Amino acid sequence: MSTNYSFDMLKSAVSDGTIDTVLACIVDMQGRLLGKRFHAVNFVEISFEETHCCNYLLATDLEMETPDGFASTSWKSGYGDYVMKPDLTTIRPVPWLEGTAMVLCDVLDHHHHEPVPHSPRNILKRQIQKMNDLGYIPMMATELEFFLFENSFDEIRKNGFRDLTPISGYNEDYHILQTSKEEFIMRPLRNHLYAAGIPVENTKGEAEAGQEELNIRYAEALDCADHHTIAKHATKEIAWAKGHAASFLPKWHKDKVGSSSHVHQSLWKEGQPAFFDAAATNGKSALMDHYMAGLIKYAAEYTYFLAPYINSYKRFMKGTFAPTKTVWSVDNRTAGFRLCGADTKGIRIECRIGGSDINPYLAQAAMLAAGMKGIADALELPPATTGDVYQDTAGGRHIPATLREATETLRNSAMLKEALGEDVVTHYTRAAEWEQEEFDRVVTDWEIARGFERA
Ligand code: ADP
Repeated sequence: MSTNYSFDMLKSAVSDGTIDTVLACIVDMQGRLLGKRFHAVNFVEISFEETHCCNYLLATDLEMETPDGFASTSWKSGYGDYVMKPDLTTIRPVPWLEGTAMVLCDVLDHHHHEPVPHSPRNILKRQIQKMNDLGYIPMMATELEFFLFENSFDEIRKNGFRDLTPISGYNEDYHILQTSKEEFIMRPLRNHLYAAGIPVENTKGEAEAGQEELNIRYAEALDCADHHTIAKHATKEIAWAKGHAASFLPKWHKDKVGSSSHVHQSLWKEGQPAFFDAAATNGKSALMDHYMAGLIKYAAEYTYFLAPYINSYKRFMKGTFAPTKTVWSVDNRTAGFRLCGADTKGIRIECRIGGSDINPYLAQAAMLAAGMKGIADALELPPATTGDVYQDTAGGRHIPATLREATETLRNSAMLKEALGEDVVTHYTRAAEWEQEEFDRVVTDWEIARGFERA
């Protein structure tokens, strides 16, 4: 059975010795799990109430640097603590680690115990609450694409990240033969996640050598983001345990297809799909039209939350199944937004802009904000595009082509400032600037090879 643990179930598992370790984790700005490993007895007796972490964890980068310019913390303010408040509805076994359970924590201010505004879980919770206040429950699914490599993370790092060899020799899109060879990683991944309460639908080979896709059943938005985060973490841990690397870098080679994380979205009311109207064209309700119009109108403003690094923008290439335009289309994989499940109760909009490096909490929150603005302003949905949307004749705005461009659209987004809060937008704009500053300092291999002799 796919199940979470109740706190009582955890206590029994601790007293009968099944569980001896509890991971208490927050989700950071990059969508990673960070936290502590508790002796399970300490957790169920004391630390389930709360624990603490340094507040730089929500003002850092992938390298755990301490950049300046964040209002929330700094060397000057002494890098104090945040409260990690375990969300006891998220306790689950971690079957791929011996004797271990996990709980996700909300991040609260150390002094007044209010949620930290720029904490990704809090940002998403606030948008879900606003949508609930309108009477709707957002249901989401995020696809996870990634590459498996022949060598381990440690071997690859020691080799300077050169000679990356995917685990398979050919494009394995939907291939059963090739993916059978990868079952020693993918089967435990599916089964362990399922046993951890994550409703895995399937895995499949993707459209490149060594590329995989993991699909998880759609769920309420917060659960979906939790599932995504844990599944991504599990993928890396299980691959590592088998001596291989799993990478969610969106574009690891210029000549290879990139990895995405498409986000499927629908709104529900009283158990019924509010995006479905049997009498309307495509079965698409007026509510869905407005939501989609908001998604499309504000796509450039929230692209940073779908593509947060320099590398993310290398994926947006014509003819690779990654989109370049903020247009919508019916079941068409060249558009930024694909209408799926037309004329059925499963009708939903798939945003195809996000790369495999998204933080799902931030991506979903930003899209809910855009969709809600579309509903509030009763925005009119532009007509669907057809055919090869990569062609200039298809019209539509371009997705920001670089992190620099996306940083500026984020910085100037009145919609996001109103929806997420000015402090939150300023915080993530600083993170985006820092990423660009770090890159701008680097002399790349490409420059050396191109100019060393010939410049
Ligand atoms: P693709 O063809 O883009 O690869 P998949 O069929 O692999 O799409 O994935 C479809 C995803 O959409 C699944 O994760 C599924 O749970 C999800 N999904 C199905 N119905 C809905 C819905 N009404 N709202 C949101 N997500 C949905």
